[in-house]
Amino acid sequence: MPIRLLPDDVASRIAAGEVVERPASVVKELVENSLDAGATRIEVETRDGGTSLIRVRDDGSGMLSNEAELAFRRHSTSKLERATDLEHISTLGFRGEALASVASVSRLTCNTHHRSDPAGTELRIEGGKFVHRSATGRPPGTELVIEDLFYNVPARRKFLKTERTERRHINGFMTRYAIAYPEVAFTVVHDGRQALATPGNGDVREVLLSVYGADLGASLLEIPAEFTAGHPIRVSGFVGPTTVHRANRGYMTLFINGRWIEDIRLAYAIIQAYHTLLPVKRYPVAFVGVEMPPEDVDVNVHPTKAEVRFRDGDSVFRAIQRAVRATVVQTAPATASWDPASGHTAPPPTETEAQQNRARLAALRPSQTHIQFPTTAPPAPGQRSGLPTGGDWPVLGGPGPSPTDTVPSAPAPEGRTAAHRRTGGETLPPLRVVGQVATMFIVAEGPEGLYLIDQHAAHERVLYERMLSRATGGQVPSQPLLEPQVVTLPADEADRLEGFLPALMKVGLEAEPFGAGTFLVRSVPAQLKHVSPADLLADVAAAAGESSPIRQELEEAVIRHICKRAAVKAGQVLSMEEMARLIHDLEATGNPRTCPHGRPTVIEVSTEALARQFGRGGAT
Ligand code: ADP
Ligand code: MG
Repeated sequence: MPIRLLPDDVASRIAAGEVVERPASVVKELVENSLDAGATRIEVETRDGGTSLIRVRDDGSGMLSNEAELAFRRHSTSKLERATDLEHISTLGFRGEALASVASVSRLTCNTHHRSDPAGTELRIEGGKFVHRSATGRPPGTELVIEDLFYNVPARRKFLKTERTERRHINGFMTRYAIAYPEVAFTVVHDGRQALATPGNGDVREVLLSVYGADLGASLLEIPAEFTAGHPIRVSGFVGPTTVHRANRGYMTLFINGRWIEDIRLAYAIIQAYHTLLPVKRYPVAFVGVEMPPEDVDVNVHPTKAEVRFRDGDSVFRAIQRAVRATVVQTAPATASWDPASGHTAPPPTETEAQQNRARLAALRPSQTHIQFPTTAPPAPGQRSGLPTGGDWPVLGGPGPSPTDTVPSAPAPEGRTAAHRRTGGETLPPLRVVGQVATMFIVAEGPEGLYLIDQHAAHERVLYERMLSRATGGQVPSQPLLEPQVVTLPADEADRLEGFLPALMKVGLEAEPFGAGTFLVRSVPAQLKHVSPADLLADVAAAAGESSPIRQELEEAVIRHICKRAAVKAGQVLSMEEMARLIHDLEATGNPRTCPHGRPTVIEVSTEALARQFGRGGAT
């Protein structure tokens, strides 16, 4: 179709709004144009996060020399003719506004050559004004160079995010398109450094490997062909097995008819498909593409075209959920156990997981093989009255402030008789381990009654304080890897991680950038030698995304994430000795009552409250 100006009645029916807000949105619009032009190679280059320069070069159709200028007028497009065309859009663009918008806020050079023209055309537009036109001799295709974005809109310039943030957005977008269009070879270069390169040979698996690295890329499961063909709504793509999960939703990507969209409801269809198969608060890795008749999906909802509306959203939801579920359950463990924390059933930990947990716990204190008894003043005899002192159970107490200001030696004062009490930031009294419940909680007895300890939360607290104090002293024990491991992260995560490497050094994780989203991991924190470096780096990148830019907070966030991974999990059977050690270590922490994420580690039920429940009236 030729490029033409849209009649007013059509233009007015297009979702209005500015699309060029930031460098990343310029890249998105230009790359979508290249894809619409049928390109098989798309090269993106930026300088200074796109503020000084964005170059997008393609080998697509190119523009005819007598049409090229028109492309920069508002509401000019070759993708739409009449209003009814809006009902079945099959191209990524259709608004005819992007080039005009970009040209009005930058110095733009367009170099384009259509196959049927003898020569190409070069146009120079500054702040929306044509300043130069000449014939050029370039191969068919188009190259757009955007310099000094927003040079004439200082207000916009002022609100630009950091260069790193822009690169992250660009990379996030480009990696997704690289996966959705495996037949197109994409390269992305920032400030002379390559962030992404895909072969463009049509092999999605190869793209996944180059984007996600060998570990993750190879583990992804392909949605079987039965969902990919023969339905009005066809679902294809790749999803992670249940052993692969991430701390945030950023690893779920949805494409509808070749367009990346963000749709909370459909993302939920993917999460639902993993129902009961993933740990609580963990999200799947999934790349799901849906093909459906264009007339059943309305893309003219929002100017950035990232939102769509479906004629029958429920059936799209069901199609996605069914396809993902079927793919995942092929590999999920067959039996499941009740997980009271989430109210969901959860697969039991596999043998190797259990072994790993055991090894983690053992690594906790390599030097200590016996249970330690209190080294400070022993509890007053009254505190232990009624408690058996002998028997097989280890009796524990811990070093800490004198018992008189931490352990109540008198009967519980009035007003502290609530049946389930979560006590404040005090230290713990000496506790005697009674046993384990639901392979999740440690049951213990203390001077005031019954204590329930969340084993995972408690271990997290112990590891966290230990690592934090060592990081402050700059001596987290680190375990050099026999061979440095190469880990590839999605470009946006990689970019985020890079500014973070010095903080990682302090906690014993030594990694160096290795180009194109790849890192060379040389050593890991000794406590985490059983966790795969790829998982570790992905977790840390997620932590970096969530926390504030204050260095100390970043470090703490990283440590929190690391400890979460390293801590014993629910579902882990612990021996009496291991439980006793854990409680002993918990007592020694500065803040034993909460885990580093703020959840309680201990719940107390007073003897008094128990007595009342049994209708004994008082504490006697
Ligand atoms: P839209 O993509 O919505 O049509 P744009 O302003 O992005 O609007 O582009 C205007 C027109 O310029 C397109 O319709 C297309 O004909 C032409 N065009 C833009 N970029 C390219 C490109 N890379 N290759 C070929 N033609 C292009
Ligand atoms: Mg466009």
